[in-house]
Amino acid sequence: MISSQEALQIVLGEARRLEAVLVPLAEALGARLAEAAVADSDLPPFDKSAMDGYAVRAADVARLPADLAVIEELPAGQAPSRPLAPGTCAKIMTGAPVPSGADLVVPVEDTERPPDGRVHILRVSPDRRHICPRGEDVRRGEAVLEAGCVLRPQEIGLLASVGCDRVPIYRWPRVAVLATGEELVPVSAVPGPGQIRNSNSSSLLACCRAAGVAADDLGVARDEKTDLRAKIAEGLTRDVLIVSGGVSMGEWDFVPKVFEEAGVAVRFATVRMKPGKPTVFGTCGGRLVFGLPGNPVSTLVGFRFFVRPALRKMMGHPDPAPQPLDARLLAPVKVRDDRTTFVPAVLRCAADGWGATPLSTHGPADLVGFSKADGLIILEPGDYEAGAQVKALPLDF
Ligand code: AMP
Ligand code: MG
Repeated sequence: MISSQEALQIVLGEARRLEAVLVPLAEALGARLAEAAVADSDLPPFDKSAMDGYAVRAADVARLPADLAVIEELPAGQAPSRPLAPGTCAKIMTGAPVPSGADLVVPVEDTERPPDGRVHILRVSPDRRHICPRGEDVRRGEAVLEAGCVLRPQEIGLLASVGCDRVPIYRWPRVAVLATGEELVPVSAVPGPGQIRNSNSSSLLACCRAAGVAADDLGVARDEKTDLRAKIAEGLTRDVLIVSGGVSMGEWDFVPKVFEEAGVAVRFATVRMKPGKPTVFGTCGGRLVFGLPGNPVSTLVGFRFFVRPALRKMMGHPDPAPQPLDARLLAPVKVRDDRTTFVPAVLRCAADGWGATPLSTHGPADLVGFSKADGLIILEPGDYEAGAQVKALPLDF
């Protein structure tokens, strides 16, 4: 049996960055930029007032108060009609181009306006010009974003400001989600005897959404080879197929066999981890295929630890592996099992760093207990006292 880390390395080794595509700016959120974005003009594009006030010549306000003639009004969007001559100033609004000859903007609150078309400058702060000089943020032709960076709302705004309305990004993987099990009924149905609702499809589709990927719901396959074959074949037309259930040792757990029949090269089928021992992973012509154990918590842990890193790598993330944080254990834990154990925990950040309180749940089927967790403490077998330093993986999906 391989370790969870070895299994993760196999998954990341098989996941390939997808090709670059051009998408409308409005659809680029969460993607990775495939080429550096370059400024098409200086930013700001002109010397710009940072205040509402009066653009003045420094020599005219060397002695205060100063009395200046107002030669024009410059709202944002209006270019000055002429340079400032000595003894004159321009009324100016935030964002308007500063006229040539002006050295500083005096905020309106530092002035007085008698009703004679002139202005009295009362105060000038010695170190504040209140002008954003042309090109101070970036020069035309310089890169504003490097290839590979993630596009958050602030990068989307920056791309907009340099005129990038079509954005080169690494394509999102096409993902399919398939649940398996005779006992499963739709969310809207009332389960009959021996039946339960299919929750894994909903949670896996939500996981994909949280990872920025739209996934297709292939519904539920019965624990029967013909149905499984047809639905797995459909799933193999996507970049990634995530199947839940049917991967254990039970008599009706046909998923690994049907994967192989469908041409999936299975790379591992058991992992030394808890939950998640019967996790299956394989490839089929560059596509990735995951078979996650069906218990709802096992499915979510499998997505967090294996599937999300693979999706991130496909989307161009340079460092897609899970990044556990260092935390202090706030209650003792004993790990008796010989597998790496993922313990649901409450994570809180305090002045002295992260603290992790392990939760006692009823095991891998207990979504009620798991929903109280916001992280997984990752523990090797052993006894851990309160205060021990541990690794904890946030459940931020
Ligand atoms: P399996 O991995 O198919 O052996 O399933 C393990 C446990 O998870 C069983 O109790 C199943 O009923 C349950 N299970 C499997 N698939 C789902 C699902 N899609 N939603 C909720 N529970 C499931
Ligand atoms: Mg099953």
